[in-house]
Amino acid sequence: MRSARTRIAPSPTGEDLHIGNAYTALINYAVARQSGGRFIVRIEDTDRTRLVEGSEQRILESLSWLGIGPDEGPETGGPFAPYRQSERLEKYRSAAGQLLDKRHAYYCFCTQQRLEEMRKNQERAHEPPMYDGLCKTIPDKEARERVKNGEKYVVRLNVPDEGSTVFRDIVRGAISFENRLIDDQVLLKSDGYPTYHLGVVVDDHLMEITHIIRGEEWISSTPKHILLYDFFGWTKPEFAHMPLLRNPDRSKLSKRRNPVWVSWYKSEGFLPEAVKNYLATLAWAHPNGKDIFTTDEMVAAFSLDRVQTTAPIFDIGKLRWMNGEYLRIRPKETVTDQIFNFFDKKYPSDMIRKVLPLVIERMKTLKEFESLAGFFFNAPDKLERQPGPTTLGKLKSALDKSDWRHDRMESSVRAVAAELKLTAKEVFMDLRIAVTGKSVGPPLLQSLELLGKEETLKRLSA
Ligand code: GLU
Repeated sequence: MRSARTRIAPSPTGEDLHIGNAYTALINYAVARQSGGRFIVRIEDTDRTRLVEGSEQRILESLSWLGIGPDEGPETGGPFAPYRQSERLEKYRSAAGQLLDKRHAYYCFCTQQRLEEMRKNQERAHEPPMYDGLCKTIPDKEARERVKNGEKYVVRLNVPDEGSTVFRDIVRGAISFENRLIDDQVLLKSDGYPTYHLGVVVDDHLMEITHIIRGEEWISSTPKHILLYDFFGWTKPEFAHMPLLRNPDRSKLSKRRNPVWVSWYKSEGFLPEAVKNYLATLAWAHPNGKDIFTTDEMVAAFSLDRVQTTAPIFDIGKLRWMNGEYLRIRPKETVTDQIFNFFDKKYPSDMIRKVLPLVIERMKTLKEFESLAGFFFNAPDKLERQPGPTTLGKLKSALDKSDWRHDRMESSVRAVAAELKLTAKEVFMDLRIAVTGKSVGPPLLQSLELLGKEETLKRLSA
């Protein structure tokens, strides 16, 4: 395979990188890497009304947290800079000029009011909402005259009335659209900015993108892009539309039902390697049937033509499971460092290291270390329920006399139970609640051994 140049082209209109975009980014990254090619990020910031302050930076940060930062992009630079569309306006204007000269595009002077009326009429007649082509009939000379006189205009794509536009999608095979159903899309807006359709085609061409890999929500835009490539006389890249991720109830992945921003996964203590691994398994399976594999292994084995078209379910429960597996297969030293950094050095790492074996089996995220093991570092500020005071008093004196080894403490606790005619289970539970605040947690006596005699007795008296 020739070396691929792939890209994602996020619009900085959301809080951060959407998990669905992280998914397409990963696939683009893999396709570029496996051919020794390059992965590019281009910021599509031409919809000035929807820009969100700081969004671009957070998108780039999230990609770099995932370890799939671009080889070329707005911060990295590269041979095709600038990588921000708002800094490339001249290129779209001149491209639009080329199309106008060949009548593959035309000036449109329709007012907002006329367009709204047209839309309402179409709605009433149950017709698809499309531009009716009124301005296409204006002779070129007259149109240019009106532009020169300062009349407000947009530039529209001149879609042929007949025939159809066909392209091959690597994932889905041949896809065909009837031209009469394709809208005369606005290419250049009255503010001088291109629309997505013009910007994306011009830049994918100029940046020598070989594979357009994006979400399936862009399929209906693709025939417009194909027409543009043909009108410009440019070689077309390959297309692959990835299935959209869905919630477990099959609805479209949305922030109402699922956390969608990559930064959320980071702040919840997911590991970037696990997130990537899980994403990789969504519409593709490792040919060896493996569940757990590195990004490098994915890169080596991935192929677009083995991507399934049915919408994969993004199940956060499965991701949590996988994240837990990653925590357990990693060297304890690495996990210790990760916890240390995750909590901003709040907990001393030598203690994290000692505590880790007691909680690692139950941990699914770095963040859960705190709910499982926080009591090693701070006495609980409230108890799940109040343990019996007599039991605690007896436990205190019995444990005071015990050797501070978990196998020795056991008999002391059992002796207290016998004396009070309670079950051992009840007494252990009171002990657990008094020391940890909670009724579930890591192995109790081993935890006490680590916590130390002084601190344990202090909590029993409190
Ligand atoms: N700017 C589009 C987006 O927001 C890019 C779509 C594409 O990849 O062509 O996702």
